[in-house]
Amino acid sequence: MPFVITSPCIQEKAADCVDVCPVDCIAEGEDQFYIDPGICIDCGACEAVCPVEAIYHEDEVPEGEEKYIQKAIEFYKSYE
Ligand code: SF4
Repeated sequence: MPFVITSPCIQEKAADCVDVCPVDCIAEGEDQFYIDPGICIDCGACEAVCPVEAIYHEDEVPEGEEKYIQKAIEFYKSYE
């Protein structure tokens, strides 16, 4: 179960998460950053450093933010 970046990232794009990810699985999209769900090792490092609390474990995504799980999947699909 990977971590997911949700709406507070939009327009913020602080990128602190990119620097700490040990497997380099966070990429910049047009409006937000995305975690590759196929590569994320679930370490939680990105969640701890996000200044806007945009990152959640897939099981703990807040209500109304669930669409960001699918949005990340679609983002990486377009690169396959
Ligand atoms: Fe990278 Fe760890 Fe965050 Fe997954 S949980 S995106 S591996 S820093």
